[in-house]
Amino acid sequence: MDESDLNELHRLLAILQGIDVGVVMLDLDLRVKAWNSFMENHSGRSAAQASGQSFFELFPEVPQLWFRRKVESVLTLGTPAFTVWEQRPYVVRFKNYQPILGQEPLMFQNTTLMPVVSINSETQHVCLIIYDVTSVAVNRRQLLEANAQLEQLSRTDRLTGLSNRGHWEEELKRQYARHRRYGSMASLIMFDIDHFKRINDTYGHQAGDRVIQTLARITADSIRDADLAGRYGGEEFAVLLPDVSAPGARLLAERLRKTAEATEVMHEGQSIRFTISIGVADLSEPCASHEHLIQRADHALYASKHAGRNRITVHGC
Ligand code: GH3
Ligand code: MG
Ligand code: MG
Repeated sequence: MDESDLNELHRLLAILQGIDVGVVMLDLDLRVKAWNSFMENHSGRSAAQASGQSFFELFPEVPQLWFRRKVESVLTLGTPAFTVWEQRPYVVRFKNYQPILGQEPLMFQNTTLMPVVSINSETQHVCLIIYDVTSVAVNRRQLLEANAQLEQLSRTDRLTGLSNRGHWEEELKRQYARHRRYGSMASLIMFDIDHFKRINDTYGHQAGDRVIQTLARITADSIRDADLAGRYGGEEFAVLLPDVSAPGARLLAERLRKTAEATEVMHEGQSIRFTISIGVADLSEPCASHEHLIQRADHALYASKHAGRNRITVHGC
């Protein structure tokens, strides 16, 4: 190595010291030969302290078999190997010190493992490069969380927390398509609060809202995980029951009717009672579309209204 080579090497080392990326030189026994100031700062060990130490003793969190295989493939193929934070959040466990990203305790990392070819063309070292990608990871995670919340909001009715009509109908369409394709069964329960205008007129609109919310809670508490309850209109609700036929749906409808009848809604010291009228329909008769099933349940609901309210009608029975 002549003088110009040495000068070149020193310049390179100065650059490696300054950059905000971890650089670790390892020999083929996976002992640290050198590392830069990024590694010193984050590990709390100087390059001199680390030199000659086993990489696995310095970083016991690194899975040995996995890392040795990566090194082997780098040496055999003579090409770099990479890890990305989405698959493995970090290779060496460093704390995250970036203040804005303070909520993340650990540093997310992408890494590159490269063969280092010496002047005589032999590979006697591998170089591990560690990139701190915590800000990327945190932003991505926050974006995903925000999207999930938005999606949840766009499906939910604000007053009741049940599915809104749009989402509920989408789900009904899906069940109907399943029925057309596989012959699966599904039922629909639709119900409407009896003389709800009177409740609003007597106790006020806020009291009416409380009644709507109470009925939503009763409904949510009565159905199974596979069922989907939605607010279909102002004080009209719908429950979709996949794989259930009308007699099963009727049992749930009866439970809802009785619970509503027995429930007392307290609002500003006043006790409010209410009842519901229910219509039930299922896919046992040929149905031209998902709207057709809604129509049947709706007709059954209005039959209940005309027959005196606080009762259940099953379509076609
Ligand atoms: P019926 O037994 O025939 O159903 O009588 P009803 O008085 O309940 O009649 P209808 O279903 O037509 O009345 C619905 C009323 O519900 C009209 C509307 O002012 C009221 N309403 C609709 N949405 C809301 C809401 O979000 N909050 C409140 N408080 N009232 C609502
Ligand atoms: Mg009503
Ligand atoms: Mg109504």
